[in-house]
Amino acid sequence: MPPEASTVDHRALLEEERTELVAKLDELGLGGAGLTYDSNFADSSQVTAERGEVEALAATLRETLEDVERALAKLAQGNYGVCEDCGQPIDPLRLEAKPAARYCINCAAKH
Ligand SMILES: [Zn+2]
Repeated sequence: MPPEASTVDHRALLEEERTELVAKLDELGLGGAGLTYDSNFADSSQVTAERGEVEALAATLRETLEDVERALAKLAQGNYGVCEDCGQPIDPLRLEAKPAARYCINCAAKH
């Protein structure tokens, strides 16, 4: 790959990812103020298991969403693409694959 500056529009990628994440959380019924379950659901073990899975998935989605929003904030502040640990620029190819990356590849391995 040539060492040229990336022409990828990270803001567009991040906004797209944010939209998808919000949509997924909405699908889970978690778009608003936390978990909302139909109170008519029997409290069977199956429901409990499903609920655990949904909560785990929602937690992952929320974490990813936080990373995406943090990256968008960094874009707005003009320090996007800088490793939050060592302060070095993050590899453009890494940002292309993972626009919400907070750390360079070296620091990500440490975390
Ligand atoms: Zn680093």
